[in-house]
Order: sequence, then C-alpha cells, then structure tokens
Amino acid sequence: MKIPFNVLDRQYLKYQSEYEEKVINVLRKGWYVLGTEVTNFEKEYANYLGSKYVIGVDNGLNAIVLAFRALGIKEGDEVIVQANTYIASVMGITMNGATPIFVEPNEFYNIDINKIEEKITQRTKAILVVHLYGQASKMEKILEICEKYNLKLVEDCAQAHGAMFDNRQIGTFGIGCFSFYPSKNLGCFGDGGAISTNDEKLNRNFRVLRNYGSQKRYYNEVVGYNSRLDEIQAGLLRVKLTHLDELLEERTKIAERYLKEITNPLIVLPKIDEKCSHVWHLFVVRIENRDKFQKYLEENGIGTVIHYPIPPHLSEAYKYLGYKKGDFPITEKYAETILSLPLYNGMTNEEINYVINVINSYEEKE
Ligand SMILES: *Cc1c(COP(=O)(O)O)cnc(C)c1O
Repeated sequence: MKIPFNVLDRQYLKYQSEYEEKVINVLRKGWYVLGTEVTNFEKEYANYLGSKYVIGVDNGLNAIVLAFRALGIKEGDEVIVQANTYIASVMGITMNGATPIFVEPNEFYNIDINKIEEKITQRTKAILVVHLYGQASKMEKILEICEKYNLKLVEDCAQAHGAMFDNRQIGTFGIGCFSFYPSKNLGCFGDGGAISTNDEKLNRNFRVLRNYGSQKRYYNEVVGYNSRLDEIQAGLLRVKLTHLDELLEERTKIAERYLKEITNPLIVLPKIDEKCSHVWHLFVVRIENRDKFQKYLEENGIGTVIHYPIPPHLSEAYKYLGYKKGDFPITEKYAETILSLPLYNGMTNEEINYVINVINSYEEKE
C-alpha cells in the first residue's frame, strides 16, 4: 500500500462542484482583487472566530510581518517566540528589524510558559505565540505576563484554525495571524492569509498597510505593501469555511485512532494540555533513531515529514544571531527525534489501519 504524507485533492473532490461553481462565478464577475468575496470572507471568518475584524492578506508570513509593523515593532526591539517554530514565525519578526528571543517548548511542543519571564528585558516589546501543530497554547499565563510587562501579543495561528483555549478561539487573544497555504487545515488553492483583531484602529491600519499604504486610491499615508488576498482564493475559502468544522472533526477522528491504536513502546505519542484543544494539523510522534524509523516507513510505502529538521536558531539564515548547537537543547532534541505521520482529510480506514499496523510491527534491529 502506498500512503503519501499528504493528499490534497481528496478534500477538493469532496466539495468539487461547490468549488468549481464558485471559481466560475468569480471569473464571470470580472472583479478579481479586493472585492465582495474578500469582504464577505472577512466577515464570515470574523464571525467564525468571534473576532471583531478579519483582514485578508496574501499569505501567513506577511500576516505576521504586518502585525509587528502595525504595532510599531522595529530595530532594537525584542520579541519572544518559541525556539522550535517554523522559520516563518521568526521571519515575521526579523523582517521588521526586531530581534527574536527564543524560549524552549514544553512537552506539548508549545512555548514553555515557565521560561518566558527570565527572557524579558527593557527591550522586550511583544510575545509571538505559535499554536504549533494545531494545538492551542496555554493562554492564561501568557496573557498575565503580557499584562504585567506591558507586552503586545501576536498569535501565529497558521497551523491551528479552529483550535481553542478554554473554549475561546485562538487568534482572539492577541492579533491573530493565519495562513491559508493549501496544506493548512483551512487551506485555499494557492497562497492566502488573514489577520484578526478586535481593535478598530489596528483594523484600519492593516487595511491601509496591505494596499500600498493607502485607503483612498492614489492617496498614500505610509509606505505599505502589496499584501492582498485575491477574489478567487477568498471565494474558495468561503466555501471551505462552511465545511471547516466537519473537516476538523475528520482529522480528530484519525488522530484519536492513532492515539488509541499505536501501541509500539518505542513511539512517544503527542499529548494534549489542559484546556487546550488540538485540531491536528500535524500528528507528531517522537522516537530515538528517528531516521531509521522514517526509512522503515518509507520502505513500507508510508510518507512522513520532519517539522522541522533545523530549528531557526541553527539555520543558515539566522547565523548572524550568533547561536550555536546546544543553546536550546530541548528544541534540538525534538528536531532530532520528531516525525509527522500521514493525517489528511479523505484518508480511508484501510489507509489508517495500514499505518497503525506498520508502526506497531516496527522493532529496532541492529
Ligand atoms: C505555514 C506557516 C507560516 C507561514 O504561512 P505562509 O502562508 O506559508 O506564508 C507561518 N507560521 C507557521 C507556524 C506556519 O506553519
């Protein structure tokens, strides 16, 4: 049996006629950028989140870039972020000239709330919380710290659409930054992103920043970006949003089977923190001698991916920050032992059974 890590066309085929009708509709309307599809999607997604405003943008990275730009974060400022995140989180900080200050993750792969305060200095301006792999971060302590030290809060929600902390949607605690890259839980069919906020002034700023710094055409208030969401993607997202809960439920069912039926003692399964919900963007396990296990799965036709093999502090791109191996031992240990198993919408029971059986039959041989 052949099981790729991800199969994107199945979730498309599930609602094929709705998607195709929407695309033809938009094409025939003759209005392709910042029109009614974007406006309606923004309203519908704000409604889904329980947020006052949503602003559609071109991708998840730029959502983070704009968030820090709108908050006035700049060179000389420090932003706290977990060390084991996807590198785009860090780029959202450094593209504004600010310095990322890394914090080790907890056993749930999210920021360790007990290690934040020791990293706060006079220059600390914000915390970027990443709800990694689809699990909400422990928000109450983070909110407390933000309050105590007067820090801004930005949430990287790229992997966690629909996840909740204490029954409240992530992305509504601070400024929420979403990606709609095709493989994300709420993915479109190209690039897309969004920002959520409850602040009216920030809402206006984001709308200006995403469109060359202008609200009124050809009147430019600031040097902005071209960071717009297009009509076709917004239209397709509107269709998918009506099915999002169903799609998340399907992912949860697969994850529940893995959690219950993967019984190989060599495998460390993911855990869920108190009050934090998990929408299973990724099902990440840990194992010693990971590369050997990955090869075994590959030989049995099962595709896996490492999210992520090189932590940002050790990447070529951030050499200038001056970190070395050993600076973040937990993060580095995770990078050496984690592996994401196939989990996608439209995965069949036979495929799930097969993955479970192959994993349970794995033994470490010399
Ligand atoms: C995907 C992702 C991003 C970036 O989103 P793009 O739309 O690909 O730019 C940022 N942060 C995290 C955690 C992501 O997974």
